[in-house]
Amino acid sequence: MLKIENLSIEVEQKRIIEDFSLSIPKDEIHVIMGPNGTGKSTILKTIMGHPDYKVTSGSIYYNNERIDTLQANEIATRGVFLVEQNPTEIAGVTNAEMLRAALTDRGIKESVFEFNKRLSLSCDRLGIDKSFLHRNINEFMSGGEKKKNELLQIDVLKPSLILLDELDSGLDIDSLRTLSNGLLEYKRETKASILIITHHTNILEYLTPDKVYILNGGRIMMEGGMELANKIEKTGFKGAFSISER
Ligand code: ADP
Ligand code: MG
Repeated sequence: MLKIENLSIEVEQKRIIEDFSLSIPKDEIHVIMGPNGTGKSTILKTIMGHPDYKVTSGSIYYNNERIDTLQANEIATRGVFLVEQNPTEIAGVTNAEMLRAALTDRGIKESVFEFNKRLSLSCDRLGIDKSFLHRNINEFMSGGEKKKNELLQIDVLKPSLILLDELDSGLDIDSLRTLSNGLLEYKRETKASILIITHHTNILEYLTPDKVYILNGGRIMMEGGMELANKIEKTGFKGAFSISER
């Protein structure tokens, strides 16, 4: 369970997020929508422990442990996984090498044979070509391939909280469906929680949200269910903000 309490965040001495609170129970999907530049990615990067983002007040708890004081790798080993809008390319490190190191970090020690079997199962399940395993992380991959590659990492590392920053950007309809269904199956099996940032309701038709928040100027302006996301899609943010404010 993720619990964010009265969080304020600064980047380069500029206040980006103000008094932001949210709780995501196990097995729930929550969504943050909001205009560009309003601080959505800032929230996800802060949860993940990015050093540029300073928590100036409030706190973040994951499974009753305070995590806003931890380093990114410590947060990752506690089961949090961020899929960035533009996943980073890492030259010189293959997917398989990174996954082996990440599993070791999580206390999983297994033979090369067992490890290869684990990776091979994940590739089969997700319909990912095994040649991906020996490619450098996200290097020379299309936008869609990078996101598929991130899903492979999720399937192997088994996070319990997945943060998706505009997963749908740059994906064609078929890739969006395949990836969303893969995530949905993963959630069914593991009861993972998911926090989604998106501008569009397409992805929410697969990953039906339990809660939707509208962020503006670093604050939550509105919250509701899927009906709120549908309303925003029709009226745009400006229309919605003039109708009601939290
Ligand atoms: P969103 O994801 O909602 O579009 P962001 O969280 O990326 O918005 O950005 C919110 C604001 O914080 C923007 O004004 C952006 O320029 C600023 N910002 C975000 N990250 C940084 C950074 N690393 N350095 C300086 N400014 C940043
Ligand atoms: Mg963003």
